[in-house]
Amino acid sequence: MKKKILTLLSLIIVSSFLNLQAQGEDFDFGERTIKPGTRKSFFVEISSEKDSLKIPISIFHGKKPGPVLGITAGVHGMEYVPIIAAQNFAKKLDPNQMRGTVILVHIANLPSFLNRSVRINPQDDKNLNRVFPGNKNGSITQRLAYFLSNNVIAKSDYFLDMHAGDANNELRPYSGYYNYSSSPEISQKARDMARALGFPFIVQFGNTDKVEGASKYCSREAFVRGIPAVDIECGQKALVEEDAVAQIEDALESLLNHLEISVGKSKTIPEDKAVFIAKRTTVTSNHEGFFYSNMSSGDYVQKGMKLGYTTDLFGNRQETIYAPVEGFILYKSFNPPIKKGDGLFNIGHLPKKLIKKN
Ligand SMILES: [Zn+2]
Repeated sequence: MKKKILTLLSLIIVSSFLNLQAQGEDFDFGERTIKPGTRKSFFVEISSEKDSLKIPISIFHGKKPGPVLGITAGVHGMEYVPIIAAQNFAKKLDPNQMRGTVILVHIANLPSFLNRSVRINPQDDKNLNRVFPGNKNGSITQRLAYFLSNNVIAKSDYFLDMHAGDANNELRPYSGYYNYSSSPEISQKARDMARALGFPFIVQFGNTDKVEGASKYCSREAFVRGIPAVDIECGQKALVEEDAVAQIEDALESLLNHLEISVGKSKTIPEDKAVFIAKRTTVTSNHEGFFYSNMSSGDYVQKGMKLGYTTDLFGNRQETIYAPVEGFILYKSFNPPIKKGDGLFNIGHLPKKLIKKN
């Protein structure tokens, strides 16, 4: 009898513990509290002496405990495909069916989005993806980066920053991850995340021993904080291409399955099917004027191949552009205006055996 009571008692203790586990705890974000199994959408306001802006954020807090995934879209406000894909995805995400938490920054750089500004925040002419970790006493974009670093990235166990080719870029979709030899475990987790996103082309950012100097980039700030971090690059030319939107929605679903935030199978690309790009070369313009090219993103180029040309502002032929390396064009400038130092092509180097196959 005593044994039976003891068994019953331990059953009650175990089941109440499991129940507590199953319910999870509240998620705190600033002064906001999100209950398990609910979502909250709100604006966070940032201001400097001169400017102010707001950030639209949604937090999905799963019924059951699990990892926190931070996602940013719209760090560049004219990269619409990831912004819209995240919005669609958010409508389908049910916190009642989730483990853990997703912090989604819908549009990190709202002034850039609303003012149709390529890459920079027009309030202070700064590129948000060059000022991390930010500065709480700096200009508006530096304060925005500071908020994202300390309130979104710092709260995440995993991090994803989503981009597209900007308004002037044609782009072949790829994912990327931060890879530094002094942090093999974080790099490996990020590599697994990148594969879970399902894009066949995977760029390895860094590939040195460790990050030197400021993090600069949004997702590299996550890496510096010991958080596995990946990027998506999908979409182009300030268009809203349905296929590209669907591709990112699929990638997000697969990543959440991979992290076991959602229940389902991830569409992880097998290691031997993924094409890892360890090095890239940017071809820049030596002049200002017009740029012309018949090449497309995704095209394979051989070293020395003619890629295009520039003219001066009167239309006189100026410079012929040649491929400095062999590889694939990941993205290229697709319309005429070009300044000295602007990127014309970004070419991903590929392992020799892969180049031969193509
Ligand atoms: Zn971008």
